[in-house]
Amino acid sequence: MIVAAIAVLMRARQVDQLYDYEVPASVDIQIGQCVMVPFGARYVLGYVVRLTQADQAAAPGETQTRALRMIDREPLHDAPMLAAELVELAAFLRDRYMCTWGSAISTMLPPVTRTKQKVRYRASEQAGGSPLPEELLRYLKRYRGASRKTLVERFQVSAQQLAKWLEDGSLTVVSEAVQKYVRTRATASAKDDPAAVDPPLEASMTLSSEQQAAYDAVCASMDQGAAQTFVLRGVTGSGKTEVYLQAIEYSLQRNLQAIMLVPEIALTAQMTARFKRRFGARVAVLHSHLTERDKHTEWHRIANGQADVVVGARSAIFAPLTRLGLILVDEEHESSYKQEREPRYVVREVAQWRAQRAGAVMVLGSATPSLDAMYRAERGRYQLLTLNTRIQRRPLPEVSVVDMRQEVRRGGHSLFSGALREGLQHTLARREQAILFLNRRGFSTVLLCRECGEAATCPHCDVSLTLHKTRDGSRLRCHFCGHSEGLRTQCAGCGSVRVRQFGAGTQRVEHELLELFPDLRVVRMDVDTTTAKGAHERLLAEFERGDADVLLGTQMIAKGLDFERVSLVGVVAADTSLRVPDFRAAERTFQLLVQVAGRAGRHGTPGRMIVQTFAPDHYAILAAARQDYGRFYETELAARKMMDYPPFTEITQFMIAHRDGPTAQRHAAALQDELARRLQSAAGVRVLPAVPAAVPRAKGLYRYQVTALYRSFAAVRSAVQDVYRHAQNKAPADLSITVDVNAHSVG
Ligand code: ADP
Ligand code: ZN
Ligand code: ZN
Repeated sequence: MIVAAIAVLMRARQVDQLYDYEVPASVDIQIGQCVMVPFGARYVLGYVVRLTQADQAAAPGETQTRALRMIDREPLHDAPMLAAELVELAAFLRDRYMCTWGSAISTMLPPVTRTKQKVRYRASEQAGGSPLPEELLRYLKRYRGASRKTLVERFQVSAQQLAKWLEDGSLTVVSEAVQKYVRTRATASAKDDPAAVDPPLEASMTLSSEQQAAYDAVCASMDQGAAQTFVLRGVTGSGKTEVYLQAIEYSLQRNLQAIMLVPEIALTAQMTARFKRRFGARVAVLHSHLTERDKHTEWHRIANGQADVVVGARSAIFAPLTRLGLILVDEEHESSYKQEREPRYVVREVAQWRAQRAGAVMVLGSATPSLDAMYRAERGRYQLLTLNTRIQRRPLPEVSVVDMRQEVRRGGHSLFSGALREGLQHTLARREQAILFLNRRGFSTVLLCRECGEAATCPHCDVSLTLHKTRDGSRLRCHFCGHSEGLRTQCAGCGSVRVRQFGAGTQRVEHELLELFPDLRVVRMDVDTTTAKGAHERLLAEFERGDADVLLGTQMIAKGLDFERVSLVGVVAADTSLRVPDFRAAERTFQLLVQVAGRAGRHGTPGRMIVQTFAPDHYAILAAARQDYGRFYETELAARKMMDYPPFTEITQFMIAHRDGPTAQRHAAALQDELARRLQSAAGVRVLPAVPAAVPRAKGLYRYQVTALYRSFAAVRSAVQDVYRHAQNKAPADLSITVDVNAHSVG
């Protein structure tokens, strides 16, 4: 008898285990297939993780006492199938990041299930009402309710009868989330195949000597199949992408395949077009903004072997390639390479797992490599490759830092310093373009009472509300939970009507910009202007055509963009990202500023960058102004060493959330106690006291965090896993406990 171990596609922790099913001889099944299996009263979707031959001698009825349920349906042949390698990768994700089988598998595939709300009828708990037929009552108890269809077809309940039972309270209605299988076609239609209409492919360029050296090292390593990891540090505009493209070409010549990861926000039409020009129909593109249908089409093109170059955001690391030779991670330092919802995986680690398995080469590219990557390169675990000069020796932009404290002292109220105003004027006079960067959207970010100093905060979260100008007036919005309300004219604390706006967002910058330069054509890009499908591309195209003078935006304009006529980059407030309570704040600020600077002077026009800040002496800002990576790295590394933070340690963080503050705190303290007790004898491990999270209340829940720092995950793994499972089991249903292994951002 064959027994299949099935992981069901449900995210609930209570069902996070493998379930054994007997496979009848009539059903042909393989590892990685999607199957519909009986589960309780219904059928659910699952994937085959293991197949074992149950011991013939022991069957039937001897040691095999458990009654196995039977797989009584054919596997779903049109569903995406998990290659054996990816089944093992799911097990790795579950073990490393403590996620469920369901979330691990769902993350690796295009959507297989869709949750739908369905109405179910239940027998009411309280007495009263008219008695229900015995058989129906039994059914409702056993299966915790029934659908309308079941009532009508199986129990012949008429519409009038149903209405009556609902009215007299014999039945109640509940709305339940039900999984639906997303049916897709496994093959792309001929019309989807772009090969037929593709223009001739673009030829590769002659590499500079620095590019050539990097390329040679990567190719030599591919020849060896030794799963080497490279850090490619190249200043912006030094031609990293060209090295990626040619390394991919090399892998294709050797009949190997490649994955090129880019941060979601950098995955613009520009980047995709560049890849399609080079590789045509062999490219598949995967990212979260694709329609469900396109996700399936692209996924199947990869699985079928039609596409062997995958360009995509984070989750493209799970692309079902079978002859992987090269994994490229562009802008390796980007925070979007860490998934902040379950499974909370780190792309670099998953990539490493796949590279190791396939003997593939991994390249982590960036102008500002993360401390984690650079530290490993320094220690010899990764190999460092550098591109020190921009292509054609185009100079990096000249950077000036403006001390906004002095501007204020001189009585300036404007968001724009004299230097930035002049810079803009100059740029416009020469009919060049400018990019203005500010990492905050909305109009003003704080509303403060002039009488008592109270800020307008979200009723559900401990964050201040941001003022947004809308077509019909102003609204206050919470950027954390989405709460929105009309403008408050009175202080909630003291009732005063003297309320003042502080802190500027992109909307206000735009507003002031147009007051200074009434004829200016501005394109604003932030979450608020790019929600519509295609808006992102449309706005960028508008700027690229020269239909706008200024591109103003949040971090979505910081990277990957390449515009010919941009000669000025202005950073409106460089310290917004410094004032975040996170040990990576300095690193993020440095990276962001260097990235933004890289947008200027990429072509003939020499570039200039003006950085406005209230912290002109901060080492992150000084080093960014000089584009001095080495100096920043040394300073930051010394600070991390002193604090015993990553890359010297790894951090795992638990988050405990509950409607009631003291309840959350109590459970957090208990978890912290337990963790400390289990780890007290382990060397080099610290468990910090439970404290309120950086945002102590969010979406109506009080949040506490428990943090552990350690040098080796192997030394803490089982303790962390046990404590987490135990806490989950003990927790009341309305308490939420999450764990983030190798947390990248810590409050
Ligand atoms: P990065 O990825 O490091 O920012 P890119 O690869 O985008 O740099 O290169 C910057 C610019 O230089 C692009 O316009 C690219 O087409 C051009 N370029 C890159 N390599 C070469 C080369 N070897 N010869 C000529 N132009 C090049
Ligand atoms: Zn007040
Ligand atoms: Zn909120």
